Amino acid sequence: MALDGPPKSPNPIKKPDEYREVDYLMCSQCGTPCYVFEMDGSRITEATCLVCGNDEVRLFNMGEEAGSDDE
Ligand SMILES: [Zn+2]
Repeated sequence: MALDGPPKSPNPIKKPDEYREVDYLMCSQCGTPCYVFEMDGSRITEATCLVCGNDEVRLFNMGEEAGSDDE
C-alpha cells in the first residue's frame, strides 16, 4: 500500500467531546439564556440569571441536553 496522502475523512467537521466552548447557559428556572457565568473546564462554577436572580449553578444547563449528567 502506497502512502499517497492522508485519507479523506467522511466527517470533516468533528467536534471534540473533551472540551466544548459554551456561549451561554440556560437558566432552568425561567428558561432564559444567561451570559454571566464562569466555568472550570466543562463544569459550571458560577452563574447568575439576571432575569429571575437564580444563582444556583445546578439550576443552569449548557443549552444542550446531550451528555448531561443528571443526578
Ligand atoms: Zn432565570
